[in-house]
Parts: sequence; structure tokens; C-alpha cells
Amino acid sequence: MVGTCTALHLQQRGFDVVLVDRRAPGQETSLGNAGLIQREAVEPYAFPREPGFLLNAALGRGAEVHWHARGLWQMAGSLWAYYKNSHPQPHARAAEGYSRLIAHATDEHDLLIAASGAQDLVAREGFRFVFRTAEAFDKAAQRADRLRTRLGVRSQAENTDQLAQAEPALRVPLAGALHWLDSWAVNDPGALVQRYAELFVARGGRLLTGDAASLQQQGAGWSVQTTEGRVDAQQALLALGPWADDLIRTLGYRFPLFIKRGYHQHYQAPVQLRQPVLDAERGYVLAPMQRGLRLTTGAEFAPIDAPPTPVQLAKAQALARELVDLGQPLPEPPWLGARPCTADMLPVMGPAPRHKGLWFNFGHAHQGFTLGPVAGRLLAEMVSAEAPLLDPAPYRPARFA
Ligand SMILES: Cc1cc2nc3c(=O)[nH]c(=O)nc-3n(C[C@H](O)[C@H](O)[C@H](O)COP(=O)(O)OP(=O)(O)OC[C@H]3O[C@@H](n4cnc5c(N)ncnc54)[C@H](O)[C@@H]3O)c2cc1C
Repeated sequence: MVGTCTALHLQQRGFDVVLVDRRAPGQETSLGNAGLIQREAVEPYAFPREPGFLLNAALGRGAEVHWHARGLWQMAGSLWAYYKNSHPQPHARAAEGYSRLIAHATDEHDLLIAASGAQDLVAREGFRFVFRTAEAFDKAAQRADRLRTRLGVRSQAENTDQLAQAEPALRVPLAGALHWLDSWAVNDPGALVQRYAELFVARGGRLLTGDAASLQQQGAGWSVQTTEGRVDAQQALLALGPWADDLIRTLGYRFPLFIKRGYHQHYQAPVQLRQPVLDAERGYVLAPMQRGLRLTTGAEFAPIDAPPTPVQLAKAQALARELVDLGQPLPEPPWLGARPCTADMLPVMGPAPRHKGLWFNFGHAHQGFTLGPVAGRLLAEMVSAEAPLLDPAPYRPARFA
């Protein structure tokens, strides 16, 4: 999503753009997510600090978190920085930078959805957080009031009866829900990226297969090998999602990046949810998709290439069955992907600190699908030295250099 949107925005500004990927666009993380364009996600996901939650996570209880010792070891430095940055003060600073981007997410998607004729993939009817306990519901309702007043994020609190009426597929009474009114749901996230990529090609862009590992500085410019031969350019941009760290390390950058893996599975549910639902106290999402009801899991701290260990999926499935008749899973292995995260919870967008003509656009963590179009626009504005939509300073790669 991020690379394709950046390519579109650069093209729109008159650059001759070649989009190189080792697979077709929209086949990786941007395919397997929950498909939410999250206008409500104005605060980045902080490292949970409640002792009870941390103990449960450490003991492998609950569905929210799972970890591999090797993953924790590999990411220890970044995770420690993430923990410290999740203190209320630095987190509030991160939220300022994050909310400015999120504020443009739906408007920027809207332009690309219209231009690529992708309206059929998008429902603009919001997204629900549902709560099992009154205590959690009250706390979340207070937060929603604060977000409405401070940042104009619209939501509607629903009590037990209102929720039952709004979502008849829920089979037990719940304490209540927050319906985020301005968030959108995409019923095939990979297809949306493909539509954007088709728009890029229809406007004259070239899509080539190649490995970013072949990127090389050539005189004042850059080159990359593709199946169609070598491509030379004055400028190169890396939008490699969770694989960015591998490549920038070869260029000498040590940024505090890490990943949170996540799984999904589709179900042939005999009932339909009207909107996607986050089971807020259990940490998984149920999203109606073209292929069935998609269940997506929380965070797994494991090396990106470690074999799948879908224990969270099994736990989340059992929890989800309490709420909805899921029916049978589709006969396919669970999908596994990785959220590309940074220790300060802000994406990395801007010029590479020590390489002329090289740009970065990655690290959009839990909301890269949401942020692709605005991230693409901001990057293209920086490359073309235009007045940017918003101040890019908080996202500059140089903050880690
Ligand atoms: C379970 C789960 C649920 C999520 N739900 C949501 C959600 O509802 N809403 C939301 O906004 N976000 C969500 N996210 C986060 C979101 O999916 C990611 O932030 C986003 O997809 C990242 O997009 P990207 O373009 O940076 O990365 P990707 O989509 O992974 O794209 C990276 C591209 O780089 C290519 N690539 C990698 N290495 C190379 C190489 N060496 N050479 C050539 N090409 C290469 C890949 O093939 C791929 O096409 C979720 C994530 C997960 C895991």
C-alpha cells in the first residue's frame, strides 16, 4: 500500500516512476490486514503498561500477545525503547504526530478510490469496538469523548440493547460498544492495492519484478536489477514494509525498528456482521470480507522468517465463537504477516540521512493500510520540494541517525 501510493503521488507530480517489487503489489502485509481505514486511530498503539497484562503476556496467557524467545532477544533494544516511549508524556507527543497523518487518511484514500474505481471494495459505515465489561466500556467512552472534543473523531456509544440491535449477529449481550463513525472497511485489502497499482499503470507507470537487495548507488544516482534488466534512476525510494530493516542495515543504518507479526483466517460464517468488530478486551478483529469473515490477531513477537505458530489464532477463534457463530474456517493455512513498527511509534518518511537521492517510507505499524495514501503524498511532496500537506519533521529518518 505504501509503495504503490507513493508511486502514484510521484507520478502525479511529473516523475517518471518505476515500481519494483519481488511480487505483485498488494500481496504481503497490505493483503492480510483487517482492511480498516482507521480514522479513529489517532493515538498510536502503545506498549501496554498494566502489570496484569504484562504478567499474562509473559506467561503466555490471553490472545493479545504471543512471543518467541528468539524474537524478544532479536528485538530487545527496540522493544525497550518502545516501552519507554509508551510512557504517557512521550506517547502524547507521538500521538500529535500520528493524529496529524490520520486526519488525512480517509480524504486521501477517497481520491484514489474514486480515481481507481474501487468504490465496490469500500464500506463507509464505521467500525465497532465492543466491550464485555461495563468498566472497560466506561473507560473507553471517556476516551472517545476526549478524542471527539480534541480531535473531532466522531463516535457513538451504544448500550447493550442498542448494540444488539445494530449487530444482530452477536449472540450474547455485551456491555456496550463504541461505533467509530468515520472509519471505513475494505472487503479485500489486497484488491484495493491492486486497483491503485492498475491506476498507476494506466497513467503510464511501469511495474517491474526485482529484488531491492540489488539496489546500488551508481554515480549520482541509483540502480536496481529487474527481470527486464537494470533500471537506473536519479532517485530511489524504499517502501519495504516489515523488510525495510534488512536492507537499510546493509546501507549502514541501525534504526530502532521491530515487527509485530499477526495472523488471519477466514470463516464461512452463517451470519453476517454489518461492520467490523474489535473485541476490545481480547485483542482480535472480526471483519466481513469477500472471502468470508476474517479474524485477525494481535501481536506476535517473533523473527519475521520464523515458522508460523498460530496459537493466538486458536485462542482468538475460541473467544470469537463466544460472540458470533463463525462456522467452519476456510480450508487454507492461516495467513501470516508482520506490522512494520518503530520504537517511537511514528513512521520513517523522508530523505535517507547519509545517501543522496535515497528516500524512505516505511514503519507505519498498525495503520499502514490506512496511512498509505497520505504517506505517499507527503513523501512525493518532499521529493518534489513542494509545500507539504503537513510538517514532515516528526517522521524524518534523521531522528534515528
Ligand atoms: C494482522 C494485521 C492486521 C492489520 N490490520 C490493519 C488495518 O485494519 N488497518 C491498517 O491500516 N493497517 C493494518 N495492519 C497494518 C498494515 O497491514 C501494514 O502497516 C501495512 O500493510 C504496511 O504496508 P507496506 O506497504 O509498508 O508493507 P507491505 O504491504 O508489506 O509491502 C511491502 C512490499 O515490499 C515488497 N518487498 C519486500 N522486500 C522486497 C525486496 N527485497 N525486493 C522487492 N520487493 C520487496 C513486498 O513484496 C511488498 O509488496 C495490520 C497488520 C496485520 C499484520
